[in-house]
Amino acid sequence: MQRCPLRIAVVGAGPAGIYAADALAHQDAIPVAVDLIDRLPTPFGLVRHGIAPDHAKMRALRETLHHTLDHERVRFVGNVEIGRDLGLDELRRHVDAVVYTYGAAGDRRLGIEGEDLPGSLAATDVVSWYCGHPDADRATVEDAILRARDVVVIGVGNVALDVGRVLARSPGELVITDMPQHVLDTLAAAPVERVTVLGRRGPVQATFTTQELRELDHLADAVVLVDPADLELDPVAEELAAADRVLARNLATLRGWVGHSPALGRVSVQLRFHARPVRLLGTDRVTGLEVERTVVDAAGRATGTGELDVVPADLVVRSVGYRGHPLPGLPVDERSGTVPHEAGRVLREGVPSRGEYTAGWIKRGPTGVVGTNKHDARETVAALLADAADGVLRPAGDVDDLVDTLVARGLEPVLLSNWRAIDAAEAALGASRGRARTTLHDRASLLTAARAASAAAEGSAAANR
Ligand code: NAP
Repeated sequence: MQRCPLRIAVVGAGPAGIYAADALAHQDAIPVAVDLIDRLPTPFGLVRHGIAPDHAKMRALRETLHHTLDHERVRFVGNVEIGRDLGLDELRRHVDAVVYTYGAAGDRRLGIEGEDLPGSLAATDVVSWYCGHPDADRATVEDAILRARDVVVIGVGNVALDVGRVLARSPGELVITDMPQHVLDTLAAAPVERVTVLGRRGPVQATFTTQELRELDHLADAVVLVDPADLELDPVAEELAAADRVLARNLATLRGWVGHSPALGRVSVQLRFHARPVRLLGTDRVTGLEVERTVVDAAGRATGTGELDVVPADLVVRSVGYRGHPLPGLPVDERSGTVPHEAGRVLREGVPSRGEYTAGWIKRGPTGVVGTNKHDARETVAALLADAADGVLRPAGDVDDLVDTLVARGLEPVLLSNWRAIDAAEAALGASRGRARTTLHDRASLLTAARAASAAAEGSAAANR
């Protein structure tokens, strides 16, 4: 890469990091060289390991994001974990600025009894597993899914709908995805009969979007059930629905399912509202979830009515939001799980820290769709470029190239050519099974595929000698 005056490391190659790299690459005011670092050997973050595999159109966004990886001012450096392989201080000594875009990989806790019983999984674990994330706990998730006849998903956001929908899909609908083969095989063998998706508040407070809700109507072997009593609106909910077209559309979709009944041989997907999780039941493993009926007050808070009920469950998936974690040496607000910032400038003890920026979920929390990160990253990059123009950034000086430092440490950074080799290996694996692509899910296979590029480069260098 050509040596440029401003060296910038972007930590996290998901959508926020890629959009930040893109905004930096596509401006002419200040020449930049961007290292886009990820702890995984693969780019795209939640576009690869979060967007549900049956959402092929959304997953195809990676083609667009790839243009940024191909840009001459951007260098993808995968398989390097900042805070473990390279300290934050060391990284900062190599570059003039760092942009933290490593997202919110953790799960929020419910804080109720039985939460850690076998058979209780965080949605983050299930999503990682079905997307083929190298760190997914395959044994635990597969054991739970292979026993799951009655599934309860806690939460009524889009992730809850993703998980409920994927578990309710037939094998024929999933084989066309890029899921790893073992995920397909496990889901085909899972005995799922009922999926209950639980909202602690009413339908107008649910955070799912209409498109994702309507999709439930198009599952090959499932029927969607709704109790009309759950859709009765109090005056506050009526007012909210009247003022918001999205809420009105959601309600119309839900009302369209009233009157459906369970059908033999089809998975029932029940959307249930006003049910607050009280505790998970079971001694050795989960057998059910105790819930309390709620009413929603004028401020939108759910209050328990004291009316208890038990929903049978062999598997409980807690889909109550993601949570950001600190990188060693980086401040993260305990309550919100986000890095304190001002327009993307990281604050340390309330003061902007020179050369540190943040974008994406670790900046604003786990909200919005993929595109939200574009505006978010632009705000951050604008702050960075303004600081550079004002002479605020202190040049790192004459230091070794980051990749040379990593290699000298015995690390194995995955560069663009290596990633291309992984990409080609996944396409070839898919083709060998009559599928478009099959995700390589374990680190060893990913690195073996990545090394094919290094071997080819060494081979052609030797041939040219
Ligand atoms: P979310 O939309 O914030 O949903 C979290 C859900 O958990 C809410 O229903 C929330 O209910 C519930 N919850 C939180 N604490 C709870 C508790 N203690 N007990 C019971 N329920 C509790 O988050 P998400 O579904 O994880 O999605 C994260 C972001 O990714 C969202 O912006 C989402 O739209 C986006 N996403 C988009 C897509 C897509 O576009 N297809 C797919 C997946 C994710 P309350 O509202 O009552 O707190």
